[in-house]
Amino acid sequence: MSTTYQVNGGVAVITLNNPPVNGLGHSTRSGTFEGLQQAQADAGVQAVVIIGGGKVFCGGADIREFGTPAAFAEPGLHAVVSALETCSKPVVAAIHGVVMGGGLELALGCHYRVMTPGVQVALPEVNIGLIPGAGGTQRLPRVLPVEMALQMVTSGASVPSDKLAKVPGQQLIAKLIEGDLLAGAQAFALEMAAVRPLPRVRDLPAPVVSDAGLFDKARADMAKARRGLVSPQRCIDAVEIATQDDIDTGIHKEGEMFKALMVGPQAKAMQHAFFGERAASKIPDVPDNTPTREVKNVAVIGAGTMGGGITMCFLNAGIPVKLLEMKQEAIDRGVGVIRKNYEAQVAKGKLAQDKYEQRMSLLSTTLSYDDIAQADMVIEAVFENMDVKAQVFTKLDAVMKPGAILASNTSTLDVDKIAEVTKRPQDVVGLHFFSPANVMRLLEVVRSKHTAKDVMATVMQVAKKIKKVAVVSGVCDGFIGNRMFEQYVRQSFQLVEEGATVPQVDKAAEAFGFAMGPFRVGDLAGNDIGFAIRKRRRVEQPDVVYSPVGDAICELGRFGQKVGKGWYDYEAGKREPIPSAEVQACIDKVRADKGITPRAISDDEIVNRLVLAMVNEGAQILEEGIASKASDIDMVYLTGYGFPLAWGGPMLYADLLGLPKVVELMKGFQALPGADQAFWTPAPRLARLVAEGKTFTGQA
Ligand code: NAD
Repeated sequence: MSTTYQVNGGVAVITLNNPPVNGLGHSTRSGTFEGLQQAQADAGVQAVVIIGGGKVFCGGADIREFGTPAAFAEPGLHAVVSALETCSKPVVAAIHGVVMGGGLELALGCHYRVMTPGVQVALPEVNIGLIPGAGGTQRLPRVLPVEMALQMVTSGASVPSDKLAKVPGQQLIAKLIEGDLLAGAQAFALEMAAVRPLPRVRDLPAPVVSDAGLFDKARADMAKARRGLVSPQRCIDAVEIATQDDIDTGIHKEGEMFKALMVGPQAKAMQHAFFGERAASKIPDVPDNTPTREVKNVAVIGAGTMGGGITMCFLNAGIPVKLLEMKQEAIDRGVGVIRKNYEAQVAKGKLAQDKYEQRMSLLSTTLSYDDIAQADMVIEAVFENMDVKAQVFTKLDAVMKPGAILASNTSTLDVDKIAEVTKRPQDVVGLHFFSPANVMRLLEVVRSKHTAKDVMATVMQVAKKIKKVAVVSGVCDGFIGNRMFEQYVRQSFQLVEEGATVPQVDKAAEAFGFAMGPFRVGDLAGNDIGFAIRKRRRVEQPDVVYSPVGDAICELGRFGQKVGKGWYDYEAGKREPIPSAEVQACIDKVRADKGITPRAISDDEIVNRLVLAMVNEGAQILEEGIASKASDIDMVYLTGYGFPLAWGGPMLYADLLGLPKVVELMKGFQALPGADQAFWTPAPRLARLVAEGKTFTGQA
């Protein structure tokens, strides 16, 4: 049983004991249910206290039970909440640490809730594609102002108990208890022992909305902020229902919506992302107990676009940074950009002035390697040139204290070779940040064949401190993300060559849920980057064929927004893409040169060709061991490339489509006129999974 039961001075104490977060698995639910029955039957018991063992009250459902029969075994959470509500003796939830999801729904079934200050109170179900399913959307708006409840349910964000306790008219928290929670809760329970009728949240009046447009505005806001996601919209519907229907009807409707979401693809996708993020930090051959090195301060080399952003990540986490450059002007420019970024946050009210000053006080600069010798970790972000990097790593090797971690932010160079420049290759690792580095959550950790296990364990820990989602990639051209992205871009060129227009491809990708279509991304990042890569490919890998459309527009100097023209035209100072006649003429010429008669291409074909191009490369990346699991690839795409969360990443998308269907589609693409046969040949891993009836992610 994951609960204990004890009677102290007339108060029955039910303690939830299901580490790490007292998840409401079957055994916890049964224990609570039986404890209540025992307390009711015992004439010596005047009141009941439910408390969490360990560091928290309750984090919600037991995620280990998801998808197993135990999740559906009675008593379910509804039955427990109902038993709490109908208990003939007062039940007090004594809450510390965390009360989330089902934990909060359980607490809302109790007659009273007492909390220590600083408890994190939340209904986070929206973030795994669901809505609270045990009355949370109906009861929370009865104890808090409806606007606040709506905000909590739709964002999933936690609010501290001391803030909630101060909300005028709130009935969520009966009392804040500063000292011994159990003693305080027991005393409170005895004070309430004689109260009848017992207060029940369900008996409180339906919430009243003062702003008639509240829910429609919330729907519009969420449609923008969480584009394409159903669960935030259903959360809004459910809270609106709380204002319209009686509580039993509301709970019934909430349950129906919950069930519909539970079986839909988005809940699968969002749960895949939720678990994938946690799984990404696990490296198969680097066990959790691998020792780590201390990283108390870092040095960053190069104060350009990336160096500045990387520096901010550490300053934000309270880790001192020494920034090294070649010239004082470069330092001044780099520090100026950092200041400007922070000042913009201060101006928007997103950062307090004193926090800004505190962060800047952690930053120092230097022109001398001697000054950084004692840093625990150094991250190089100089020009993308092997000779320059080799010079920097030779210097680092000469000056850095033994055991310092030497990291490179290279996006394309061979990290094995960078490591081999030094006499301590085991200390070298790639840390591939994404631009803007202070904003993007993804960090590809590039593990060279030399990198020591404790260096891997350390950088994964550091990544967490600076709030990045770290995904390990082996060494290859483009690592996980850019290697797959290249195939996506190749397909986008191919699609316009065959008959699609540039805006059509972008619109189809965006309707699928990508933050931006491939051509708009090209214009933002600079089309010259790919142009240079293709020139290199033509020498190194002549069999990799590209449609000439990409080169044709670059030859006209259409490098993107930075020059005011790319795949689109731009008005001076504006970012709005305007379809370009010159680009269309380029495409028409390529078609004419190749004798291609353009054909109408459906949006479905566009999306599947773009995504499956990535999937096939992803399969190869898995086969080569560059990524250790499919969910790692999906995390790269969700956190670094704007892949729609609603689909959970390219590999889950393929699984949800069905891998036999994926192969069938690829065969169809091979049959198209002029198709690249090699490109659409299913990668060995994909073919094998289909033959074995398996999937990439273990889900279908
Ligand atoms: P950048 O040109 O903006 O900045 C490079 C900085 O390094 C300049 O300020 C330069 O003065 C300085 N520098 C050059 N040589 C130096 C040396 N020997 N010692 C000290 N400082 C030196 O370039 P960036 O875009 O910040 O890129 C830096 C690195 O990050 C590259 O390896 C790049 O491939 C990688 N990267 C870039 C992006 C991106 O989107 N820009 C994304 C991921 C990774």
